[in-house]
Amino acid sequence: MITKKTVKDIELRDKRVIMRVDFNVPMKEGAVQDDTRIRAALPTINHVLEQAPRYLILMSHLGDPKKDAAKAKENAEKAGKEFDEQKFLDGKCRMKPVAEYLAGLLGRPVKLAPSAIGPEVASMVSALGPAEVLMLENTRFHREETSKDPAEREKMAKELAAFADVYINDAFGTAHRAHASTETIARFVPVAVAGFLMEKEVRYLGQTVSSPQKPFVLVLGGAKVSSKIGVITNLLNKVDAILIGGGMAYTFLKARGLPVGRSMVETEMIPTAAEILKKAAEAKVEIFLPEDHIAVPEFSNEAMIHAIPKDSFPDDLMGVDIGAKTLAEYKDVLSRAKTVIWNGPMGVFEMPNFATGTKEIAKALAEIDAITVVGGGDSVSALKQTGLESKMTHVSTGGGASLEFLELGHLPGIDALNDK
Ligand code: ADP
Ligand code: MG
Repeated sequence: MITKKTVKDIELRDKRVIMRVDFNVPMKEGAVQDDTRIRAALPTINHVLEQAPRYLILMSHLGDPKKDAAKAKENAEKAGKEFDEQKFLDGKCRMKPVAEYLAGLLGRPVKLAPSAIGPEVASMVSALGPAEVLMLENTRFHREETSKDPAEREKMAKELAAFADVYINDAFGTAHRAHASTETIARFVPVAVAGFLMEKEVRYLGQTVSSPQKPFVLVLGGAKVSSKIGVITNLLNKVDAILIGGGMAYTFLKARGLPVGRSMVETEMIPTAAEILKKAAEAKVEIFLPEDHIAVPEFSNEAMIHAIPKDSFPDDLMGVDIGAKTLAEYKDVLSRAKTVIWNGPMGVFEMPNFATGTKEIAKALAEIDAITVVGGGDSVSALKQTGLESKMTHVSTGGGASLEFLELGHLPGIDALNDK
């Protein structure tokens, strides 16, 4: 259970409310490309507005203006094209299109501030009418937001905190970052609580791990062992079995002394992989590795496909998906599971010819009678491609945040909130 206060635990009537949301949505030429994150915040926003607050201020980051512009400039220069920084920022990093989009969803006006802090914003805030909604400009236009210097973060956090009696954090996707608007601010507002999305993420990711119905199976894939070590280590003693696929499987196979051709291997992680296999054996946790593979001579969707068994991997091929035998075995294990956490695609799903393993695992999860939780940026986008999202118990909106939460069991943005 979440031990932090939520919006349900507090009085909101006539209160000045500031809420951190994660509206870091994909943008193209000033248009919202995917509204999942905006819709995910609606339950909390609507709840607040129904309680007749003095006003509601929303704040979010949207990309990283400085970093993103520098990168785009570099790419433009490489391509010999002209770069218009203002046009780039308007199209990618300004909240205006998001505010307009939200206004459409809410069916009420959403005012827009020209920045996140400063005198102009302060006077806009004091002019707000009852239950009016104001969206601040992208918090990351201010370097203090992400500053490593606590005094700088505090300066910005205090300015934001001065607008409010209540701080609500519903930005699970950024809760793994201790930024001015996600963490520091909580110390300077009288009341700091979690929104419904935050509560839901913590409930599903947290409770699934702390009190799972058994058998509890972890499905792990994706590119690298190194990015998933924390998750494996934390969950190793809690799960009954781990099914491994994707690029990370090859480091484990190599650790078992099997041939992997030119498949992706993190050489420096081989000893770690061997250690995990040993610990799993001691803990009587079954680790399943691919029995067969889909392999190709080069990294292209059109490449000639070879189906190969595990002990005769040709030197010139690389594995890009799990094979049919592996899939059958993994499905069999999943059919008996009562709780499943899935993170990481089973293959290079971005190329349709190598997406079978990932799609079939999604189907298997959709069919079983179990708690199914999916986390990770690429895993969730692969799942969306299958159209099976609604068949899962919980699909996390946080990429890095869900991984860190599975790894650590807590995040700075959550820790900063008031206890129940
Ligand atoms: P998530 O974002 O869900 O945590 P990761 O970022 O760890 O997942 O991994 C996703 C990436 O792993 C995808 O880009 C996918 O192409 C890649 N991948 C999966 N299988 C392989 C493989 N066999 N070889 C190389 N890359 C792979
Ligand atoms: Mg990823």
